[in-house]
Amino acid sequence: MSYSTNRRRLLSAAGILLPNLLGGAQSALAAGAKKRVVVIGAGISGIAAAKTLVASGHDVVVLEARTRIGGRIATSSFWADTPVDLGASWIHGQQGNPITTIAKSIRAPMATTVSDSQLIYGENGKVLDAAAASRLETLRTAIEKTISSAQNNLRADVSLRAAIETGMRWSQRPVADQVAMRYLINSDYEQEYGGGSTAISAMWFDSDSEFPGDDLLFLTGYKAVSDSLAKGLTIQLGEIVRRIKVTGGVVYVNTQSKTFAADKVLVTLPLGVLKSGAIEFLPVLPTAKINAISRLGMGVLNKCILRFGRTFWAERYDWLGYMPSIPGRWAEWISLSRQVGKPILVGFNAADFGREIEQWTDNQIVSSAMETLRRIYGPGIPSPVGHQITRWASDPFAYGAYSYLPVGATPKLRADLASNVGQTIFFAGEATHRQYPATVHGAYLSGIRAAGEIQSSP
Ligand SMILES: Cc1cc2nc3c(=O)[nH]c(=O)nc-3n(C[C@H](O)[C@H](O)[C@H](O)COP(=O)(O)OP(=O)(O)OC[C@H]3O[C@@H](n4cnc5c(N)ncnc54)[C@H](O)[C@@H]3O)c2cc1C
Repeated sequence: MSYSTNRRRLLSAAGILLPNLLGGAQSALAAGAKKRVVVIGAGISGIAAAKTLVASGHDVVVLEARTRIGGRIATSSFWADTPVDLGASWIHGQQGNPITTIAKSIRAPMATTVSDSQLIYGENGKVLDAAAASRLETLRTAIEKTISSAQNNLRADVSLRAAIETGMRWSQRPVADQVAMRYLINSDYEQEYGGGSTAISAMWFDSDSEFPGDDLLFLTGYKAVSDSLAKGLTIQLGEIVRRIKVTGGVVYVNTQSKTFAADKVLVTLPLGVLKSGAIEFLPVLPTAKINAISRLGMGVLNKCILRFGRTFWAERYDWLGYMPSIPGRWAEWISLSRQVGKPILVGFNAADFGREIEQWTDNQIVSSAMETLRRIYGPGIPSPVGHQITRWASDPFAYGAYSYLPVGATPKLRADLASNVGQTIFFAGEATHRQYPATVHGAYLSGIRAAGEIQSSP
């Protein structure tokens, strides 16, 4: 499948590509001249970069391992009447966000979701009473203060969990506080950053920034954004890159069956894929780059999307929280019934539990989800009529949901990941964005940044 209107096949019948040919490649070495660029990955960062480069007159081919574009923007059409997002769902912070501009220009249907539109249930399945809800808020504020005091006073980095437990004298707290604190650590931090609280850096985890304004949920799928940006690009699907070799000022990119040659390559592979070692770089990457790849963390967030014959939950709330006895299990739910008008609940599991259940069968995951829902809403609630389940940590083209800073990592590692290797290999992707990592807008902006670097490189 191609998104090209002016597709220029760079591939010879024999499966070897030497685009127009190396004489042309050499002439493109002057700064500002037309360059042949291979972009690896048709996620939002690769698409944004390719679009920018094509607009400036460069020859660009995008190689994508999957049989679809979008990467971690992954709208499923499994339910014909209701597209659902298996990856990104929201524009986080709509004001000044470049994705808002794109989404509005294509008139993508969106709705706001409000994070404090939430009903929280205790372990016994009952809505927290006023005293417990107020205690939860007190603890939330205390945790926030504890974290900022740790960030000001710590001499060496520790895990987020250690900073909170030490600062709040965890072991001396009543069990009810401990359960509530574990819930908050999962809900406010693990779900957002994807790493386990014993892994997340207390010092640096929140060194990113946010755009102001409400979050916007795509009602008919985030893919409208990636599809619209990709129009007119030459994208080759099903091309799994295995090796990137630079020799004599030319870069050769090998997929499972073909070789592409170019002046420049832009690598937008997810951090999880870079960590896996599935792609060989020749010569090997510089130490700072290898260090960044190994020390940045790749977090996990999985969705269990359950469709029912009818709603049985409080539809006027967007978010449902549950304080489980085992922390992090089915603690976070969103109801899509208000926005999309269908009886759909999405359960989120992040970090350790999110990773653990990837080994379970779909039936085991749905049964486990239903145990929690039955505890809250009673044994009489109906079974789902359908489900869709993600396994991002096992996905060979992502190996995780998004990046985070583990203990000992600093934001500078993101700059190291972003920096080019010589004048030939360039890097983009959410993990390379220091200010807006782990988001669609951060990935998009990283693609624009990398395209600029490629254009101005000799
Ligand atoms: C469950 C989940 C929920 C999220 N929710 C939100 C949200 O609500 N809002 C938000 O802003 N962000 C969210 N994110 C994060 C957001 O989706 C990502 O930050 C962003 O989409 C990453 O874009 P990217 O271009 O950096 O990477 P990707 O989209 O992963 O693109 C990289 C591409 O490289 C391809 N690839 C991998 N290996 C190879 C190979 N060997 N050869 C060729 N191609 C390869 C991949 O298939 C992929 O298409 C979420 C992510 C997940 C997983």
